[in-house]
Amino acid sequence: MHLSYLSPLLFAATVWSEIQSRADLYTRLVGYDGCSCCGIDKIQAIKTAWQQSWDVMDVIRELHIDWNEAAALEFLGPPGFNVQYQAAIQGIINNLGTMNGHWVELPLDWAINVRCDDWDHACDPLSRNPTIAYTVSNGPRGIATINFCDPFFVQSDLFNQVLRGQQSGDYRWKYDMRHYEDTKALTFLHELLHINWVYRGDPYGQNQRVVDFEVEFYDEATSRYRWKDVYGALYSKILARCTFKIMTDGSLYPQCPSLRRPPKTFR
Ligand SMILES: [Zn+2]
Repeated sequence: MHLSYLSPLLFAATVWSEIQSRADLYTRLVGYDGCSCCGIDKIQAIKTAWQQSWDVMDVIRELHIDWNEAAALEFLGPPGFNVQYQAAIQGIINNLGTMNGHWVELPLDWAINVRCDDWDHACDPLSRNPTIAYTVSNGPRGIATINFCDPFFVQSDLFNQVLRGQQSGDYRWKYDMRHYEDTKALTFLHELLHINWVYRGDPYGQNQRVVDFEVEFYDEATSRYRWKDVYGALYSKILARCTFKIMTDGSLYPQCPSLRRPPKTFR
């Protein structure tokens, strides 16, 4: 009786004794393996990206998605396509917004190992589209791990881009989402979504893994159909026009509409 009453208090006291400042409530970055090299302050670049991502978290923490609103239709598709995923999408976005200060469920769950050593040999620097960063829920230190590849360190600074947009009188530049997405802070937010305690997958919830889809589209510049990873606003809009078929193994197969040239005859 006494124990059942006392143990939550003891637990709270133990956790509280570990919390020395508000900073300790944030998800914590640890390790920085291989990040002290090559004449760039990679550690500071990662910390700055992380801190800048908090401003986005502040916006989405209690965001309630109106599925009929223009931006939701543009980027998440019509409600008829996404109705079965709405609760999961809403929950994941709100949870991502708590990463800069949330109540921990299990001690040390909030630690993320950040690395620059390409421990899984996935950076692929010779590719035409080299990997910017990659994430696993359980890395070499037994915790969630984000590895930052070299292209990350030449991405723009989100705050600089936002400032430039605020000061710009060129509305085409200012409201073009592509000018804000190729930034370190947005990469950081993207990578967080691949961690199981962020997307609330096993063992933290019922959601499926958040994965990066590829979409096929017709590229007028090369007159060819191309496959492209869905990163950023433009490709998200293409993906939002797809429905998904659930395969027998539980994976999702996108079915995207494609447009043929106008018919020559009419019947
Ligand atoms: Zn990704």
